[in-house]
Amino acid sequence: SKHFAVRRTLRNFADRNRPVVHAVDDVSLKLRRGSVTAVVGESGSGKSTIARLLAQLYPTTSGQLLLHGKPTKVGQGRAFRAYCRQVQLIFQDPFGSLNPTHTVRYHLTRALRIHNRAGRTAKDLEQALAQLLERVHLTPPERYLDSFPHELSGGQRQRVAIARAMAADPSVLLADEPVSMLDVSIRLGILNLLRDLKERLNLAILYITHDIASARYFADETLVMYAGRMVEGGDSETVTQRPAHPYTQLLTSSAPDPDRIVADHQAATTVDPAGGEVVVEEEESETAGEPPSLISPPSGCRFHPRCPKAMERCRTQVPPRFDLADGQWAACWLYAEDAPARSAPQEASA
Ligand code: SF4
Ligand code: MG
Repeated sequence: SKHFAVRRTLRNFADRNRPVVHAVDDVSLKLRRGSVTAVVGESGSGKSTIARLLAQLYPTTSGQLLLHGKPTKVGQGRAFRAYCRQVQLIFQDPFGSLNPTHTVRYHLTRALRIHNRAGRTAKDLEQALAQLLERVHLTPPERYLDSFPHELSGGQRQRVAIARAMAADPSVLLADEPVSMLDVSIRLGILNLLRDLKERLNLAILYITHDIASARYFADETLVMYAGRMVEGGDSETVTQRPAHPYTQLLTSSAPDPDRIVADHQAATTVDPAGGEVVVEEEESETAGEPPSLISPPSGCRFHPRCPKAMERCRTQVPPRFDLADGQWAACWLYAEDAPARSAPQEASA
């Protein structure tokens, strides 16, 4: 991650309608309260790095952190602690993130205590625990509180992990591939739970995924990342239905049918109404070529070695963002004002 020049600006968490703005490698990312923003990319694109940097699991190499508009020293102070409470991270592997030797009660009680939300009496604590489990639809709470992680299904474990994040009463949830390790039949349930929490608690959710079809289903806004840079953004419907960047076009043409996530869910639940283990083979998206290493990324547009529409300038000049209609944008020279006018000889000599 030291190859990332990270600049970050976080502000206005408390202000419900103002965007929270992050910038990574010269490209900004807005998280809004009550909204899901997807960051889509292949493994190695840097999408998980963004979540970890925002959660302060990785130190930033440079940059500034603002909370409520005020600069905060990373790693210390009240404002930084408030930031860490308000920004919670959910991982891909709910089993790995829960300690197998401790019960659900232990995990949630600890989280409530850390965030001073356990109340004063034993009754307060029981109420807070029950409320957390009800929020993630693990009811009745008594059935789950004294369970160990291995006694729960993958989906139930992810619900416990989400409840633990909710113990902090966050305003931002960073969900790094929260369903990719779960069985297809329960993915939709977890995404619907996150959507429900977003609406009820006015959360800003960052949804990191390699699956552009699920971004269309779940996210309000979609950003596409390639080799450490954002290459396209806009509302999810537009980006997935009318992708502008050649990389997004490649992703959407190789992705399964966007409605498949719902169809799979229905198929899986039809096959086994009892909710047992249903394994639906997952189609690997075939995208031509390999993503480049971030250690020595290609010059110019980092996608140029794989791009069917690459022009001469793409090899040497980094494309800036070009604004298209309806808030959609793409970092691609095809959208430069002078692109159609460029003649072949000029390109050859560029
Ligand atoms: Fe392809 Fe050039 Fe656009 Fe990059 S800038 S995606 S290489 S056309
Ligand atoms: Mg990852």
